[in-house]
Amino acid sequence: MAKVLCVLYDDPVGGYPKSYAIGTIPKLDRYPGGQAMPSPKQIDFKPGELLGSVSGELGLRKFLEANGHTLVVTSDKDGDDSVFDRELPDAEIVISQPFWPAYLTAARIAKAPKLKLAITAGIGSDHVDLQAAMDRGVTVAEVTYCNSISVAEHVVMMILSLVRNYIPSYDWVVKGGWNIADCVARSYDVEGMSVGTVGAGRIGLAVLRRLKPFDVRLHYTDRHRLPAATEQELNLVFHPSVEAMVRICDVVTINTPLHPETEHMFNDALIAKMKRGAYLVNTARGKICDRDAVARALRDGQLAGYAGDVWFPQPPPKDHPWRSMPNHGMTPHVSGTSLSAQARYAAGVREILECWFDRKAIRNEYLIVKDGKLAGAGAHSYSAGNATGGSEEAAKFKKK
Ligand code: NDP
Repeated sequence: MAKVLCVLYDDPVGGYPKSYAIGTIPKLDRYPGGQAMPSPKQIDFKPGELLGSVSGELGLRKFLEANGHTLVVTSDKDGDDSVFDRELPDAEIVISQPFWPAYLTAARIAKAPKLKLAITAGIGSDHVDLQAAMDRGVTVAEVTYCNSISVAEHVVMMILSLVRNYIPSYDWVVKGGWNIADCVARSYDVEGMSVGTVGAGRIGLAVLRRLKPFDVRLHYTDRHRLPAATEQELNLVFHPSVEAMVRICDVVTINTPLHPETEHMFNDALIAKMKRGAYLVNTARGKICDRDAVARALRDGQLAGYAGDVWFPQPPPKDHPWRSMPNHGMTPHVSGTSLSAQARYAAGVREILECWFDRKAIRNEYLIVKDGKLAGAGAHSYSAGNATGGSEEAAKFKKK
């Protein structure tokens, strides 16, 4: 029987919800492109309920305990004295969400001799030292596609809110003002702008599709080129390198995984190659950008705006410069954990667990690492190595 250690974000400060804003969420049949939705034998939760915080338990307790397994759920994940560190040594399975990641560093993996499976309840397994997982034979799986469209919607929202100066205008209303000139002094139309995505996978392509009706010029760069029919349909311009693309874009959105090839890709040198006054939207991973280079570029006007929901580490310390830099539209990491997305990734985690306990193959598209090497989605979109360096800084958030 397995011990399952599950790290989830804290419950709402006002208490776990007693009711929800909408009664039923739409039921989807398939993802775009045809991939099947998560298909566990059963679920023990109501889609649309809060599952990603501690009390929601991803809807897993009944299933796990009925089958004789142990489930430990905690939000206390950082620092040597954390519940996560104390519970890890005899855990077989660790489940973690990228929004509140339990960093599975090489040191932690070394302290967990029974660990065999790390499941990402979401997409993006960079919080696991993938090299250490490969070296130790730990399987890493995520729920591919579960929140790709959630993020694509968020990217479009952030591009529009930055370019149109939405958040400062909203602030004037809340402050009791009617300061139109203050609002519009940084407000533009997106129409006619050149918008480019770094990475045109599930999220990147969905962003391009959603932006097409805005009559913008669409650009992308990726390791693999999209089919010619897709390029023609969306009138896409492909660039063989990120440097070539950012030179001509008014808006750049980042939609790649974090892995050694993309870590700190947007540093001083690359940001200097962007058009002066470009907007950068990053909902992929905070560490794809150099933290201080972004803050500098906003202060000196090289970037007109920066928005996203991903930071490094998570949670970021209270004095993280992205909290106070000018012209930003940052939120905590929320885009992929809407109540709609939670229902899909909770079902996907259940499907992965059912396969694991039944000794059936986990879907190839869910795999990141298996049998000591990158596999499935991991083999297509990641490079080998480790991107967790510096994650111990997350413990600073706890300190007063
Ligand atoms: P996909 O795997 O479908 O797409 C990722 C794309 O990035 C692939 O096309 C891949 O290329 C490309 N890519 C990888 N490395 C590079 C590189 N060095 N240069 C250019 N392109 C590269 O994943 P998704 O679109 O579903 O998700 C992407 C990432 O977004 C996730 O890994 C995660 O980090 C983040 N994410 C964030 C969420 C949030 O809540 N903010 C939620 C979900 C995801 P190829 O495969 O062609 O090699």
